[in-house]
Amino acid sequence: MNALLPTALVGSLPKPSWLAEPEKLWSPWSLEGDALVEGRQDALRVAVHEQRRRGIDIVSDGEQTRQHFVTTFIEHLSGVDFENRETVRIRNRYDASVPTVVGAVERPEPVFVRDAAFLRAQTDQRIKWALPGPMTMIDTLSDRYYKSREKLAWEFAGILNQEAKELEAAGVDVIQFDEPAFNVFFDDVRDWGMATLERAVEGLRAETAVHICYGYGIKANTDWKATLGPEWRQYEESFPLLQQSSIDIVSLESHNSRIPIEVIELIRGKKVMLGAIDVASHEIERPEEVADTLRRALDFVDADKLIASSNCGMAPLPRDVALAKLSALSAGAAILREELTGALV
Ligand SMILES: [Zn+2]
Repeated sequence: MNALLPTALVGSLPKPSWLAEPEKLWSPWSLEGDALVEGRQDALRVAVHEQRRRGIDIVSDGEQTRQHFVTTFIEHLSGVDFENRETVRIRNRYDASVPTVVGAVERPEPVFVRDAAFLRAQTDQRIKWALPGPMTMIDTLSDRYYKSREKLAWEFAGILNQEAKELEAAGVDVIQFDEPAFNVFFDDVRDWGMATLERAVEGLRAETAVHICYGYGIKANTDWKATLGPEWRQYEESFPLLQQSSIDIVSLESHNSRIPIEVIELIRGKKVMLGAIDVASHEIERPEEVADTLRRALDFVDADKLIASSNCGMAPLPRDVALAKLSALSAGAAILREELTGALV
């Protein structure tokens, strides 16, 4: 484990083709029943093995145990009808058929805690587990019960807090909340989004992270990015609020993006998980490119607070591409680590 410039995967890895159809979001499982449980655990073992051998320091499950980062969590809650689907526009960007809230939402039993304990048993390294954030959850649903985005977000925040506390008890070191919606609904973030995220992390002793990105490397997202102009300044809305929050780590997209690197100044004092791998391109980054991206951040974040990661999840990429990108990430971080420790001597 590298204490300086540790590496971490921010989100998903592609699933093996024997578990789910490759290069697809929301890909249906190829197995069922006990075979599916076993298949998911085997895929998790492979994900851990690949992360370790390719030099990833903070290990995750690569989301091998879930179909989608938001919907799999919601599937485990009562009050949501999965038969009764409606098409909604997600983050003002693409249409998806989503389930409907028809009653009080509750978590009858833990969602990912058993999977997290399984991950814990595979490695002595620090482990990270991702949960969807409250605002991103409500944006992936249709609601006919609460009829208030804010009310439903508060309900989800309480549920997420229970789950997070149990993940912590299962030995998870870093609990990450994925909030891509923070890059879209600025008024809601200010009015109640940040407060509901604080509720989700209340009382946790594990490190907490929030991941805000511009999405997977799918066409709807790359088309949207093309409309954002020469400089992407969306982070300027949420970062000042995050700087004042109790969240320990802020994860942002950087490599091949149009985000001015100085926005990191707005979260001064926080740990920064910087995306130095582009998930929208099949091209494997050269280690020097990764090191350059990370090095540019050092004007705005102390080296001991910088974590090297990917921009977002890699589920839609070919498997060999995603794995090669993991190696590039750790090789790039190693270059900068050597420069920094050399300079200290
Ligand atoms: Zn992301």
